[in-house]
Amino acid sequence: MPERLLVCTDLDRTLLPNGPESESPDARARFARLVAHPQVTLAYVSGRHRALVEQAMFNYRLPLPDFVVGDVGTTIYRVGKQQAWTRITTHAAEFASDWANQSHHDLKTLLQDLPDLRLQELSKQNDYKLSYYVPLDNDRKALSAVIRHRFESAGIHAALIWSTDEPMAIGLLDILPECASKLHAVEALMHMNGFDNSNTVFCGDSGNDIEVLASPIPAVLVANGHGDVKQLARQLADESGSGAQLYIAQGGFMGMNGNYSAGILEGIAHYHPDIAGWIE
Ligand SMILES: [Mg+2]
Repeated sequence: MPERLLVCTDLDRTLLPNGPESESPDARARFARLVAHPQVTLAYVSGRHRALVEQAMFNYRLPLPDFVVGDVGTTIYRVGKQQAWTRITTHAAEFASDWANQSHHDLKTLLQDLPDLRLQELSKQNDYKLSYYVPLDNDRKALSAVIRHRFESAGIHAALIWSTDEPMAIGLLDILPECASKLHAVEALMHMNGFDNSNTVFCGDSGNDIEVLASPIPAVLVANGHGDVKQLARQLADESGSGAQLYIAQGGFMGMNGNYSAGILEGIAHYHPDIAGWIE
């Protein structure tokens, strides 16, 4: 067991049991017991903005995290016991440079004639996150190519992050600075707090988690993740030589089903078997 452990986890359908699969009854309480150990630093890494992260923490009675990475990696807050929510802005200059010093409004204007793009609510936008709803039957590859072409002409380096809001049956497109991602935010947290791959575990279930799942950072894909996500994450991790740093939860750990927080615990125990004693 390392002396310290950084646990970074996605929220929706990873720690939060808000998918169709069932949650093992004791899983979240056991997760809370694990992260209550002073050796554990806890970070929530979510596509949600701050208010929606706070809402999830309240509704699901989640442990207070040390850090929250919000808005798909474009915001980082130090939270802690005082619930200070201090914004860490180490990346602002890099974000501005990626977007060729153009604003959220400038990028929106570049794309305003594309009929399949419907702007998400104001609360889901920020200076470096331009977010749209896109019909599920849209050809994501073709639309991405059009957007990329326009950005290239303007010298803008952006990441296009696609995901799906299953309950709403709608596609989501987040346009971020190229260097903004869950992966870069997790790397920044590790760097800032002196963690490395030997004492960090990331947990996720889908879309914007895949980059971290396939990276050299030890990662856990919860059992309730979709089959196609599991297949893609496995393929990308193997291709990049990080296959041993991806664990896909199966269920069975401490009699739990591997979904949501049960999968998180199963995966952390895969990398650090000694933590089982911390959960009892
Ligand atoms: Mg998720």
